Amino acid sequence: MSAAVTNWAGNITYTAKEVHRPATVGALAELVARSAKVRVLGSGHSFNEIADPGPDGVLLRLDALPAEVDVDTAARTVRVGGGVRYAELARRVHAHGLALPNMASLPHISVAGSVATGTHGSGVANGPLAAPVREVELVTADGSTVRIARGDARFDGAVTSLGALGVVTALTLDLEPTFEVEQHLFTELPLAGLDFETVAAAAYSVSLFTDWRDPGFRQVWLKRRTDQPLPEFPWAVPAKVALHPVPGMPAENCTQQFGVPGPWHERLPHFRAEFTPSSGAELQSEYLLPRGHALDALHAVERIRETVAPVLQTCEVRTVAPDAQWLGPSHGRDTVALHFTWVEDTRAVLPVVRRLEEALDAFDPRPHWGKVFTTPAAVLRARYPRLDDFRALARELDPSGKFTNAFLRDLLDG
Ligand SMILES: Cc1cc2nc3c(=O)[nH]c(=O)nc-3n(C[C@H](O)[C@H](O)[C@H](O)COP(=O)(O)OP(=O)(O)OC[C@H]3O[C@@H](n4cnc5c(N)ncnc54)[C@H](O)[C@@H]3O)c2cc1C
Repeated sequence: MSAAVTNWAGNITYTAKEVHRPATVGALAELVARSAKVRVLGSGHSFNEIADPGPDGVLLRLDALPAEVDVDTAARTVRVGGGVRYAELARRVHAHGLALPNMASLPHISVAGSVATGTHGSGVANGPLAAPVREVELVTADGSTVRIARGDARFDGAVTSLGALGVVTALTLDLEPTFEVEQHLFTELPLAGLDFETVAAAAYSVSLFTDWRDPGFRQVWLKRRTDQPLPEFPWAVPAKVALHPVPGMPAENCTQQFGVPGPWHERLPHFRAEFTPSSGAELQSEYLLPRGHALDALHAVERIRETVAPVLQTCEVRTVAPDAQWLGPSHGRDTVALHFTWVEDTRAVLPVVRRLEEALDAFDPRPHWGKVFTTPAAVLRARYPRLDDFRALARELDPSGKFTNAFLRDLLDG
C-alpha cells in the first residue's frame, strides 16, 4: 500500500513503509501485534513528525473504524471512538442537551489526536481538551486492550501520551449541561499599560491577536457564556465588521460574531466546521509558559517583532488552567499560550522560531507537542517534572518501544 500520506499543512510527508485503515478494533489489534513499529495518524493537523513511524514502520489511520459516539445522558458522559473528530462529537453531544467545557480554534481535529498532544482552547478557568477525559482505552503493543480510568495511578500519564503508549481506540469524557455563548469582538487593544490578568479573565474564553507589525493587538475575541455577566471592556474598540484572525482571509469562514448567542460548539471554535480553518497555507508554533510571565513574555516578543513580523500571519494569545497530565504543556501551572501562525515556508520560518525560543527561554516555555519547535530534548526533559513517571509507564505498556519514533526517542530514551 502506498505510504505517500501528508499532514494537513503539507509540510510533512510520512515515511511509513505501510499505511493501514483497519475496519474493526480486532483487525487493528492483529496489525499492532504483528508489527515492529507503529504510529497512529489522527486527522493530521500536527505540523511536525510526531505521527511518523519512520521508514520501517506502519502508519494506522482510524477513520475506517465505526465512528462511535455513545452518550450516556444519566451519567453525563460520552464514549467516543479513536478516529472521531470534534465536529461530529460536538453535534451528537449537543443533540442530547449536553456540552464539552471547551474547544480548540477548529472542530476539524480528532479527539484522540488532540488530547494526545495537549491541545487547548482558552480561558483562565478552562483546562486543556484532555481535562474532561475520564477513561482511555488502548490497544497496546501485544494487541491486548488496556483501560486506564481516572483514579488509576497511571491515569495522569495516559491521556496526553503523544501516542507513545498504544493506539487509543476509545475515550470516555465527562459532559455538562449544554450552554450558549456569544462572541464579542474588539479592535485596537494597546500592549502599553495592558492589565493582562483582567483582560484574560474578562470572559469565559479570551483570545488576543496581533501580527506584531505594531506593538498592540489588532483583535480581541471575548467568548461569553450567556449564563455569565456581560463583560465591560473599555480598553479596546468594538468591532464594526466581522473579522478573521488572519488578515485578508474571509470572515465567513469564522463562527458567528456580533454577540449573537448560539450553542457552545458553534461559538467556542473560531472556525466553522464546513470551511477551511485558519489560512490553510501555513506553519504553526506555540509556547505555553506560566501566566505570571505573560506581560514580560509579550514584551520579549515585542523586542524582536521586526524579526517575527515578516514571516507571521497572526499571533494568538490565550490562557489555559493547570492540568495534571504529566506531559501536558499546562501541567501544574496557570498558563499563557503564545501561538504563531507562520507563512508556509519552513526555511524562512525556522531561524525565526529559533530566535523566538531564545527570546522566551527565560520564561520556562513548553512548546506545543503538535507544532513546529526546535527546543532540544534535553531542555524539554527539564521542563516536565513528571517525565520519569511517563517513561516508566511507556516501558510498562510498550517494553520494546513499538510506539516510539525518531521524534520521541531522545525525549523518552535520553
Ligand atoms: C488550523 C489548525 C488550528 C489549530 N488550532 C489549535 C488550537 O486552537 N489549540 C491547540 O492547542 N492546537 C491547535 N492546533 C494543533 C492541533 O490541535 C494538534 O496538532 C492536534 O494534535 C491535532 O489532532 P490530530 O488528530 O490532527 O493529530 P495528529 O497530527 O494526527 O496526531 C497527533 C499525535 O497524536 C497521536 N494520535 C492521534 N490519534 C491517536 C490515537 N487514536 N491513538 C494514539 N495516538 C494517536 C499521533 O500518533 C500523533 O503523535 C491546530 C492545528 C491546525 C492545523
